Amino acid sequence: MSAAKTEDISTVDVGIVGGGPAGLMSAILLARRGITAAVIEQRSEQEIRTTHRAGILEAGTVDMLVQADIGSCVLTEGHEHTGTILSFDGTQVRIPLKEAVGRSVWLYPQNEVFTDLARAWQEEDGEVHWSVSDTAVSGLTTSTPAIDFTDSDGRARRIEAKMIIGADGSRSVCRRSIPEDVRTDYFTEYPFAWFGILCEAPPTAPELIYANSQDGFALISQRSATVQRMYFQCDPETNPDDWDDEAIFDRIQSVLGSATQLKRGPIISKNVLPFRSYVCEPMTYGRLVLAGDAGHTVPPTGAKGLNLAFTDVRALIPRVEEFLAAPDGGTAALEQYSQTALDRVWKAQHFSYWATSLMHNRPNDDAFAYRRRRGEFDAITGSPEGRAYFADGYTGWA
Ligand SMILES: Cc1cc2nc3c(=O)[nH]c(=O)nc-3n(C[C@H](O)[C@H](O)[C@H](O)COP(=O)(O)OP(=O)(O)OC[C@H]3O[C@@H](n4cnc5c(N)ncnc54)[C@H](O)[C@@H]3O)c2cc1C
Repeated sequence: MSAAKTEDISTVDVGIVGGGPAGLMSAILLARRGITAAVIEQRSEQEIRTTHRAGILEAGTVDMLVQADIGSCVLTEGHEHTGTILSFDGTQVRIPLKEAVGRSVWLYPQNEVFTDLARAWQEEDGEVHWSVSDTAVSGLTTSTPAIDFTDSDGRARRIEAKMIIGADGSRSVCRRSIPEDVRTDYFTEYPFAWFGILCEAPPTAPELIYANSQDGFALISQRSATVQRMYFQCDPETNPDDWDDEAIFDRIQSVLGSATQLKRGPIISKNVLPFRSYVCEPMTYGRLVLAGDAGHTVPPTGAKGLNLAFTDVRALIPRVEEFLAAPDGGTAALEQYSQTALDRVWKAQHFSYWATSLMHNRPNDDAFAYRRRRGEFDAITGSPEGRAYFADGYTGWA
């Protein structure tokens, strides 16, 4: 299919807003099918490369990275985790993911996923505009949708396409361009947030530890041999500067209990991450489709966000090809994508909400609520069926 460029207008099959995992993976897989795409991204490549977010990849996400044949280092630099640990009041139980459901997860930071994808797209000579501003989409219900933006040199530009993928994250401009009477926004908020740190220390544990105690939630995660990622539950209004390093480590240690001793080191980054659950239905409007966080966000407890971005793309690409084979024949293929994606999104919403509720304390929790959650923890960790239920959702279902 064709790609033509004039000085300020590019004409491609698919215009993509957002150069995160959903946008770049879509562009690469479309190119493999001979479909031309152009990507615009409001942040610089360097800024995305150095922003720390997801770390846990489902086996299906790893398969997509490998099968895309982009030279991803996931199998050489990533770490397979065949289990994960749940801890309640210091009682630790390992959920043997692989043994329970035959699948593992992989620790491979989102920055590395981004680096792989951005390098592959540039090696394909794919059109990408970093550091853009003033993004606007138009003509979504016509045969000539377009993306207008200002490029990094301050020049007004336009991408004309046969359809647009809105992969522009949780504050999506594309989503907001769907009229309010056409879309339904489903969301719920949580009365807590995560206080996240990066510290220079060796790993405290070889696998993730999700912990709860009377002090709330904590997560021990890993990044590399020398830098670690950890979180603990906090009030959404918390100012990170009010916490010094020792107070942070003491809080995480108190949630962990004595079974695991934290490896401490200089904290090089700290931030507070409020979160909520959100779904936009449908994830399509005319010739626009939403993919990834633009269509849905989940609390990070279930480690689902990046993985959902990839499963959206997996469902989307064949439907884009179907649509482009006869673009004037209607948008049924794009509506089918929305339905397929939403079926999985709601399963992931449930898992993320459930895991969040199990592992966090709400401000108004009474003694009954706390002991009931202990009962739930024992039910999940205490039988092969309970462990398999957790493992099935955590690894991303069959
Ligand atoms: C602390 C934290 C931990 C997480 N842990 C995990 C985990 O372990 N596992 C997991 O699967 N997920 C996790 N997630 C979620 C994961 O990071 C996101 O779900 C994932 O980034 C979604 O990818 P995306 O491509 O849809 O969106 P994004 O990565 O947000 O990419 C969207 C891009 O669009 C760009 N953009 C936005 N607006 C515009 C515009 N107007 N014009 C041009 N560009 C625009 C943005 O700059 C951004 O780069 C975590 C998230 C956080 C915050």
